[in-house]
Amino acid sequence: MDKPNRQDVTKVLVVGGGLAGSEAAWRLAQSGFSVVLIDMKPEKFSPAHREPDLAELVCSNSLRSEDLLTGVGLLKWEMRFLGSLVLEAADKTRVPAGKALAVDRKLFARYITSKIETHPLISRKCYELTSLQDELLEQFSAIILAPGPLVSSSLAKELKDLSQGELYFYDAIAPIVSADSLDLSKMFWASRYAEGKKDYLNIPLTREDYLNFVNELKNAQKVIPKEFEKELHFEGCLPIEEMAKRGEMTLAFGPLKPVGLVDPKTQKQPFAVVQLRPENKAKTAFNLVGFQTKLTYPEQKRIFRMLPGLEQAEFLRLGSIHRNTFINAPRVLNSDLSLKVKPQIHLAGQITGVEGYVESAACGLMAGIIVSYKLQRKKFLPPPPETSLGALLHYLQIEQKNFQPSNIHFGLFPPLVKKLKKRERKQAYSKRAQQKFREWLEQIQ
Ligand SMILES: Cc1cc2nc3c(=O)[nH]c(=O)nc-3n(C[C@H](O)[C@H](O)[C@H](O)COP(=O)(O)OP(=O)(O)OC[C@H]3O[C@@H](n4cnc5c(N)ncnc54)[C@H](O)[C@@H]3O)c2cc1C
Repeated sequence: MDKPNRQDVTKVLVVGGGLAGSEAAWRLAQSGFSVVLIDMKPEKFSPAHREPDLAELVCSNSLRSEDLLTGVGLLKWEMRFLGSLVLEAADKTRVPAGKALAVDRKLFARYITSKIETHPLISRKCYELTSLQDELLEQFSAIILAPGPLVSSSLAKELKDLSQGELYFYDAIAPIVSADSLDLSKMFWASRYAEGKKDYLNIPLTREDYLNFVNELKNAQKVIPKEFEKELHFEGCLPIEEMAKRGEMTLAFGPLKPVGLVDPKTQKQPFAVVQLRPENKAKTAFNLVGFQTKLTYPEQKRIFRMLPGLEQAEFLRLGSIHRNTFINAPRVLNSDLSLKVKPQIHLAGQITGVEGYVESAACGLMAGIIVSYKLQRKKFLPPPPETSLGALLHYLQIEQKNFQPSNIHFGLFPPLVKKLKKRERKQAYSKRAQQKFREWLEQIQ
């Protein structure tokens, strides 16, 4: 297919026809804008893509839970109200999978491709976009880049320049646990070397606890890396099990070092300390510091729950290390997903730092809506942070020392006023989100 030329009556360029790009293109076309959607497939494939159709699910065929007591269940519920093409396709091509929404991946991708290709306002082009020259930008009123976690190298280079170097190629995600699942009687509040400051929760470990933990890590099952995911580790963010393998005391001199911390129960420095850092101001969720890992999910739960105080831990997010290209969104993006240095260009999907099929599609949907408001010169009212869509977008604006991609979970939502038990807490988050979402919908319609 040929490249767009100046005579085309196009308004918006969408680059990348994955989950985010397809959703964004569809939303814009449904709002009456003409769209050029460029995807390099089938001319060129990323190392994970295989099929010529758009919206390819590169790994699992599940869009995860439908349960409205989960962040991702709510996210899908909200997206359906906004006319999500990805969810329409999923509903039409679903396969039985209990509480999860799983699909026949071929039919799913075919459905979306056919909808896009037959839309009178969308023109699909198949080639790799290698640069964002001014000449190209001049042809479009707005641009949405949704080239995904395996963006081609030439476009990645452009993005690196546009983000002043704030583009990363691997994530290193540590698990997050919910605060009220912790046994605080086995922990103490303190900041290293800072008497009186109580920023971290600390789990003191005896020599026996520590050696047992190291031993479990050394023998644990790891996720097998994909072919294109070389065993490439950066010294600053090694997987915890890799550090354990380097030597018995490596962790005790690394992320589990006890220096500068005194256990108030014993008035002594423990043998080793696991630190938990609050994920939000309300301290409803905590990150296990330095626990980025390639262990399988069941192994993470089994081994991390052996630590004192984490026996009943509820994991809001589990750890991972992937090949994943993403930008430091809080530094690089405006709240409308546009680049601070070039507001005509918007980013969508996994490249923004959201993580997962549904989150990427949700981000594409929001990018489509935001751009259509902008092009109509109408003020866009963002979804409130109490909703799933709002919480996800809000996460991309929170400045962090070490910004890492996130999927949607209740730890990203503003805290509830009342302290509740696990099930009631989820119900309260869900009820509040649904109510706020309905109110927002009424306001924007
Ligand atoms: C190997 C792997 C496995 C994953 N497994 C899961 C999983 O099981 N479950 C889950 O929820 N999430 C998973 N993810 C994470 C993520 O949610 C998906 O990658 C998701 O598809 C991201 O959506 P996207 O639209 O942002 O990007 P993609 O769906 O990857 O779409 C990007 C599109 O852009 C195109 N493109 C790239 N560069 C260019 C260019 N220069 N010019 C033109 N086109 C270009 C690509 O061909 C592709 O079609 C996985 C990620 C990877 C890398």
